[in-house]
Amino acid sequence: MESTEHFDVVVVGSGFGGSVAAYRLAAGGLTVCVLERGRPYPPTSFPRDPAGLARNLWDPSGGLYGMFDIWSFRGLEAVVSSGLGGGSLIYANVLIRKDERWFVKEDRRTPGYEYWPITRDDLDPHYDAVEQMLDGQTYPFEHAPYSSTAKTRAMKDAAADLGLDWRLPKLAVTFANKGRPPVPGEHITGEPDNLHHASRTTCQLCGECDIGCNYGAKNTLDYNYLSRAQDHGADIRTLAEVDRMDIHPRGGYVVRYVQHDPLVKADPAEPRTTAVHADKLILAAGTFGSPYLLLRNRAAFPALSPALGSHFSGNGDLLTFINHTRTETGGFRALDPSIGPVITSAIRMPDALDDAGVQGRGFYVEDGGNPAFLDYLEEVSGAPSITLRAASFLLRRLWAHASGDPRSNYSEQVSAVVRGGDRSSSTLPVLTMGRDVPDGIMSLRKGDLELDWTTHTSDAYFDRVQTTLARIAHALGGRYSNTPLWLFKRVITVHPLGGSPMGRDRDEGVVDSFGEVFGYPGLYVADGSVMPGPVGPNPSLTIAAFADRLSTAVLSRTGSSSR
Ligand SMILES: Cc1cc2nc3c(=O)[nH]c(=O)nc-3n(C[C@H](O)[C@H](O)[C@H](O)COP(=O)(O)OP(=O)(O)OC[C@H]3O[C@@H](n4cnc5c(N)ncnc54)[C@H](O)[C@@H]3O)c2cc1C
Repeated sequence: MESTEHFDVVVVGSGFGGSVAAYRLAAGGLTVCVLERGRPYPPTSFPRDPAGLARNLWDPSGGLYGMFDIWSFRGLEAVVSSGLGGGSLIYANVLIRKDERWFVKEDRRTPGYEYWPITRDDLDPHYDAVEQMLDGQTYPFEHAPYSSTAKTRAMKDAAADLGLDWRLPKLAVTFANKGRPPVPGEHITGEPDNLHHASRTTCQLCGECDIGCNYGAKNTLDYNYLSRAQDHGADIRTLAEVDRMDIHPRGGYVVRYVQHDPLVKADPAEPRTTAVHADKLILAAGTFGSPYLLLRNRAAFPALSPALGSHFSGNGDLLTFINHTRTETGGFRALDPSIGPVITSAIRMPDALDDAGVQGRGFYVEDGGNPAFLDYLEEVSGAPSITLRAASFLLRRLWAHASGDPRSNYSEQVSAVVRGGDRSSSTLPVLTMGRDVPDGIMSLRKGDLELDWTTHTSDAYFDRVQTTLARIAHALGGRYSNTPLWLFKRVITVHPLGGSPMGRDRDEGVVDSFGEVFGYPGLYVADGSVMPGPVGPNPSLTIAAFADRLSTAVLSRTGSSSR
């Protein structure tokens, strides 16, 4: 079998798992190649114009090489990212450790059972290392102008009213330069150069985190782990999409990837493929990417676990909205979702595992946000009222001309036409996530990825979530509403997990507790797909900590230097 280049390690994908592994292994002295299907996104490169946004999707067969990769299955829709830095490019920056008691160890005979072969103690040193590198800062709510953020204040007030546990989680965002008070839009100083050779500024509170931060205020993986991996010699290749993997007859693995070129129309009959050989292969292509690669290449890996595709969960994600909020005296209460980073705070609802007095599965409720241009869409969806105001304005102008009204300044009347904003300002997206039942199964259907998953087995969990949201909305004098998808009991998840679960043995898991694939020494999986159940809170920090632990194990097995 021909192969042109050799590396100690090839890493497929550059999200939370891939970036951490690439940096740790390169820093440990191994030769590393990172293959990432998407492109790099330096500051100012994230599109904002309608044409750019419309093309910002990932589907090379349709000539699209953008950042959003949207999947639709029976029971759920899912959004993941394609680009250098993976999900960090579009995530909402929240870094929360998995709760100590949520590392569930259930009996194999329980339907939809969950068993974590690791504990919080196993991950804690790795959480420390990742938090340090991602430089998480809490939202500086005690300082002006941050203290007037309406949505943060609303969540805090509602939690206080209901006696719930409200907190400011760490966010991978730079609000302040080291040793200085936080200031929006300040040049970030004292940092080593990054792989884009670009300068960055502190958070401008524009609510654009989920469509890519054009200011470089988010501490995305390209500015830290990937830049440092490159400093240590890692060869990072973008628009390089892996499609085949084989065992090399003389040891190690051969990986084939398609080199995309957005400027040249691809010929599906003759894709431009390149092969690389590695002693160790680390799959970090995400919860859909890695199981999909393993399923498609199963013939080359006949001893893969029967658990491949199992234990899928949407991490209990439910997107809802709180709207029509009012003050205690009945006045309008603004929530202003476009001011602030996308998420600022979280309410933690405990689990029966935490406290015998609690019934049900635990979850987190987080205030959401959106870019300001979505506020305009929200207002236009109330178009009849705008049309009426415009008609009234025209009539008043005609009457002024006919009656010889001498006033020439009619700014106030124009303002009355465009006035409003109440609708968008009092509608807050709210994201809830937690411990749903991880019983989804991924498989292949005519070569495409298929997912068998339903909300029904998690009905009790979703009912508890909805009751809590109704109470929070009520405490704010408002109502809560679901997305139209919920009419069909479908959810949108941004936290898909499972598919290559870790387990105690080959029957239970695809990988062991260090991410190594049962039956294939040197083949690893390091991404959300190894989670054997929901993480509960936002999962990126746990995925990164798992990859850090995996890397320590790889380095000690190869006798290389660690951290
Ligand atoms: C809108 C949004 C907001 C979010 N907010 C948060 C948050 O606040 N906190 C949090 O913890 N999580 C958040 N998440 C989830 C978070 O982004 C994911 O959990 C995380 O990115 C998963 O990490 P990963 O390493 O498993 O995979 P990913 O980060 O998805 O990385 C996988 C990478 O592999 C690449 N890839 C896939 N297939 C191939 C292939 N065949 N060849 C080469 N490369 C390939 C992809 O392009 C991608 O870059 C959010 C997600 C979204 C969509």
